[in-house]
Parts: sequence; structure tokens; C-alpha cells
Amino acid sequence: MSKQVIVVGSGLAGLTCAMDLLDEGFEVTVLEAGAIPGGRTSNWDENGMEVESGFHKYIGFYSELPKLLERAGINLGEMLTWETTLEIRLPDQEEEEGAVFGLAPGRSPFKAIAGVLGNNDFLSPSDKMSLIPFMSAGLKDYTDNPEELDRYTVAEYAQKHGVNPEAIRHILEPLTAGVLFLPPERYSALVFFGIFAPGVPGFYKMKIGAFNGGMYDVMIHPIIHAITARGGKLRTLSRVSELISDGNQVIGVRIGEEELLADHVVVATNMHGAKLLLAQQFSGHNWFEDFLEMPMMSDITVQVETSKRLMELDRTTFAPGTCIGSFTEQSQTTFKHVPGRLSFILTPPERFIDLSDEEVFSIFLQDAKRIGLNIEDVLLDYRVIRMKDHFHTVEPGHAWRRPAQKTPIPGLTLAGDYTYQAMFTTMEGAVISGHWAAEAITGKGKERKPRAENPNPDALTDHVVRAPDMLGRAAAESAPLDTPERFIGRKDG
Ligand SMILES: Cc1cc2nc3c(=O)[nH]c(=O)nc-3n(C[C@H](O)[C@H](O)[C@H](O)COP(=O)(O)OP(=O)(O)OC[C@H]3O[C@@H](n4cnc5c(N)ncnc54)[C@H](O)[C@@H]3O)c2cc1C
Repeated sequence: MSKQVIVVGSGLAGLTCAMDLLDEGFEVTVLEAGAIPGGRTSNWDENGMEVESGFHKYIGFYSELPKLLERAGINLGEMLTWETTLEIRLPDQEEEEGAVFGLAPGRSPFKAIAGVLGNNDFLSPSDKMSLIPFMSAGLKDYTDNPEELDRYTVAEYAQKHGVNPEAIRHILEPLTAGVLFLPPERYSALVFFGIFAPGVPGFYKMKIGAFNGGMYDVMIHPIIHAITARGGKLRTLSRVSELISDGNQVIGVRIGEEELLADHVVVATNMHGAKLLLAQQFSGHNWFEDFLEMPMMSDITVQVETSKRLMELDRTTFAPGTCIGSFTEQSQTTFKHVPGRLSFILTPPERFIDLSDEEVFSIFLQDAKRIGLNIEDVLLDYRVIRMKDHFHTVEPGHAWRRPAQKTPIPGLTLAGDYTYQAMFTTMEGAVISGHWAAEAITGKGKERKPRAENPNPDALTDHVVRAPDMLGRAAAESAPLDTPERFIGRKDG
């Protein structure tokens, strides 16, 4: 009889793991708390407005995500529109358009070179030159000494290598706050170089793709179709409230009153969901304790429908010096049904996460105006979408806490962008984690372990309570199981 696996969570990590296991002959059921599968790569109807979990860009050097898409029969060229430029807009400027940089130097070399050599009003040649030692030292340290790199923030590492303050503000702030929400003063240099290093060998073909449609519609739905065609099952509105163990191993899950048993359980949730499930059983267990202490990070986006396009092109734009980390017009790509449609990622998230929608929107509008977007004049509708604690922090000193997919508990495997893999909290990272989780179950993959070591092991032993038995349940108070309601999705079916 084939072995049964329950995958908790239907984000890219859980779906990848499910696909791999089905291809190896396992019986797989995916359980999803929300109404719409896809987790942080999803879209749904939020009280009458089509929204998404936050605008996403596909980076041209991803390698595992495109393979997964191909297995699901998705044509990358149809799913994406390639952007040829990106823009950095400073606040309070007379010019409406900011500095424009060409992408894909292999395909459009003149545009790319013109972007770097030009834009001297935006960044002087000496400011640009000051980035070179920083970049080369960072890429070297990323390979040779990643633990050391994780001791620094991007700003500290930049100062150490002589980057001019203007270059930190105009280039490094967009690449931190605009990518993973925190400013260079709080963003680990390891995460910074970790996300960009894989792109360096293929830099000449560097490109960015915008989704042609909502991510559930064009990506997640076909993947689920491929899973069910392989015999896999998916249940939505099935929040796992507890892992079930027999004292030695995990043998299933509880969804409210209902118990589902399986040979393996894969916890493929976001960071918050994983901590809730694992803390109930394993707080006090040495292997999990470091992860359970890892700080979390939220994200918050403002999504706006307008009566006309505010940007000529749908392209990734950064707005350093404002509360807008990055934004994009989407009415020619992701949301074609309205004349104008923009998505904004706010920074830093904790400034906004507990404010009302009206308060968030009013702060946001002021900064939007400073970068030349007079949204009020053309506003049709807006939504504020928040995901509290869905990410592990990208602040320095914590990367080593990310757990491996293979746990010491029989029957329990982890997947998700919070688990250790080199691409951190990206779609590519989630897919890699799903593969590695499947390998941990089939036993076919390499032995993997977290790359980073705890840089200061003595500091930990003082406060970690070692559990006497492997599954010793802690009396830890469990926090409410709250994937935010609005993230659960409103679309029927
Ligand atoms: C605003 C924003 C912008 C981003 N931009 C990019 C980008 O441009 N490029 C890029 O590569 N990546 C980007 N990302 C990151 C990317 O979305 C994530 O890294 C990736 O989707 C994570 O996938 P996952 O499967 O690990 O987790 P998730 O997608 O979070 O999936 C976890 C699933 O588990 C479910 N769940 C949680 N608890 C339970 C439970 N108890 N029972 C059942 N189900 C449960 C959740 O509902 C969710 O569906 C962005 C993310 C956000 C939010």
C-alpha cells in the first residue's frame, strides 16, 4: 500500500512537495486553512475588488520555479510579461519620471549601459563607483563566510566598504525596503547578497517578469490541476489546529474535532502558522527552540483602482525616502479589467500593521503625492492587504535559526520559505524547500543541513530548556490561530 502524506498549507512550498511525492507514488492530501489556495501567491475578491497577496515579480535567474511551472503545463512566456526597465523615483522632484535603468543587458545592452552610465543627476559617478568594492566583497563573503555577513546590516556593511551615503539611500534602500520591506539599517547583508548572488553568473540575461493575471488564476490553479490529475487531493477551509503524535512520532493532524491520520505530515505553512503548530508540541525541544525564537515580519500592501493609468508602463518602481518600498502599475498585465490599477508595498511594515485601513491610506496618500502620483483625483477604490507575521525576519543575526526540512521527529517534515534554503523568502525559495521536504520523505535526496551555524552557541544554552523526551508537550500557551480573515480569500469555490 502506498504511503499517505498530509501537507499542511497550499503555498508554492506545499504544492511543490505534493507534486514531487505524487510522482514518487505517495498518496497526498493538501490541507489549506483559507478558501483560496496559493498562500502568499494568490488573488481573490475582497469585498468587490479583485486583489492579490501583494505584487510579485519573477526574477529571470530562478531555476526551480520554472521547472515546476513546466511540469504543471504552464507556459512561462504566456504567464509573464518581461519588463525591460525599472525606475527609481525620489520624493519632491520636479521631474515626474525618476531614474530609469535598463534590464536584460544581454538583450538590450545599450539600454542597460545607458542606465548605469547615465542618470548622473540621480547618482554621481563617484557614488556609483563607491558601490563596486561593497558588491565584490559581499559576493565573496557570501561564498566564503556567510555567518560573518549575517552579523552586519546592509548599511553597516556598505559603510565598512566605503559606499557613499547617497548610494546607500538611492540604490541600496530600494533593493532592501523595496524587496523585503526593511531599510538597509535593519536588513541583513547575508539576505541581501543571498538573494542577488545567484543572478550574478547569468547577469547578462537578468530580467523581471510581471504576472499576466492574478497569481492564483495563472499559476496556482494550473499547479493544483496537475496535482489532482496525479491523484492528489486538496481541501480548502481546513485549518489544522494541532499535530497528532503517538508519543514517538507524528501520526496525523487535527482540524477542529476531526482527526486525519497519515504516515507523514509536512508543515508547509507560513512562519506564523508553523510556529503555532510546532510550539504546541515541541517548545522546549532543542532542535525546534532556535526556530521558535526567530522573530517574524509582516507585510502590508495598498492596492488601488483608478479611472486612468497613472504610469505609462507596468514596471517595477522604487521610491526611497518614502513609506513606499516599491510599486507598480498593473493595468496592462495583472489586472486588465480596470483602466488603472496600482499596487504598493509599504515600509517598514510594523509602522502600519496595526493601524486602521483609513489611517494607512491617508499616510500612504501623502507619500504617493510626493512621488508625483495624485491618486485622489482618479481614485475608484482601494484595499489594504496585510499579512501579519507571515515572514521570518530579514534582520541580521537570525538566518541560522531557519530549520532544515528534515526534522528529528519521525513522521514530521517542514517546508516553506521559512525553512533553510539559499533563496530566503522568495517564490524560488519556497519551491526549493518543497523539493527538499519531499526528498526528506522519500530518502532520495542529499543529506541537507542548515548552512549557517549559530555564531554564538554559548549565549543560547542559558535559556533553552532541553526537553526530557522527544515529544514532550510543553504547557506553552498557544496563541490564537489567526491567518488574517481577509487573507483567507472571499472568492467562492
Ligand atoms: C507582498 C509580497 C511581495 C512578494 N514579492 C515577491 C517577489 O516579487 N518575488 C518572489 O519570488 N517572492 C515574493 N514574495 C515572497 C513569496 O510570496 C513567498 O516567499 C512564497 O510565496 C512563500 O510560499 P510558502 O509556500 O512558503 O508559504 P505561503 O505562500 O505563505 O503558504 C502557506 C500556506 O499555509 C496556509 N496555512 C497556514 N497555517 C495553516 C494551518 N494551520 N492549516 C492549514 N493551512 C495553513 C496558509 O493559509 C497559506 O496558504 C512576496 C511576498 C509578499 C507577501
